[in-house]
Amino acid sequence: MRRKLVIGNWKMNGNRAANSALLSGIAAGLTSTGADCAVCAPAPYLAQCQAELAGTAVAWGAQDLSAHAGGAYTGEVAAGMLVDFGCRYVIVGHSERRAYHRESSELVAQKTVAALAAGLTPVVCIGETLEEREAGRTNAVVGEQLGAVLAAIPAADVARLVLAYEPVWAIGTGKTATPQMAQDVHQVLRAQLAGVNPLAAAGVQILYGGSMKPDNAKELMAQADIDGGLIGGAALKAADFLAIISAA
Ligand code: PGA
Repeated sequence: MRRKLVIGNWKMNGNRAANSALLSGIAAGLTSTGADCAVCAPAPYLAQCQAELAGTAVAWGAQDLSAHAGGAYTGEVAAGMLVDFGCRYVIVGHSERRAYHRESSELVAQKTVAALAAGLTPVVCIGETLEEREAGRTNAVVGEQLGAVLAAIPAADVARLVLAYEPVWAIGTGKTATPQMAQDVHQVLRAQLAGVNPLAAAGVQILYGGSMKPDNAKELMAQADIDGGLIGGAALKAADFLAIISAA
């Protein structure tokens, strides 16, 4: 009943020429599929995504947003600006932002609220470090991260979330969580959503991210609670990204 969703997280990669080749490769190679797909590009290229993807089956979005709606916040990008360029999605709380920009779970929650207020679909990233996993704290850590978001939104808005479980130790490392390890956490996250809004929880897409590749995508996405992928490295090659979408 849940559609699969595959989102490319380009991170800080690309330029106009490379993006153009990648976007046209994705749009041209996309055959009719049961899965939804999107690319999350660096903010300066959102206009390019809009120009090159409008009318295709590929949606686009941003990788971050401000918690503020506008005003004196130099360097920040507001949710309304993303809407202005046709964005449907925005990633919030990626582990790289939590780690390198010290984003707290509370700030991630405020950004989620800002995204929802503008009509965007927030892709809320959640995940533990290797140290936390080895200390047996995975469920506590992901529970705290999701709990902060759930405390900040009305229960009805649970239906408007997309979650991405991304174990930090699997991102860009080539180490993927086993399908069972990922499924276990996805199940915990869905149960936590259900504690707030059981009806909506059953429909929320929970993506896996962390070294998802064409050769492991199918097995991961075959798990009961894995509804797609948030793809970093493999989203930068049209053929790999398309292969993951067809595995969904
Ligand atoms: P990766 O990145 O696929 O390169 O591991 C995933 C992500 O950080 O979203």
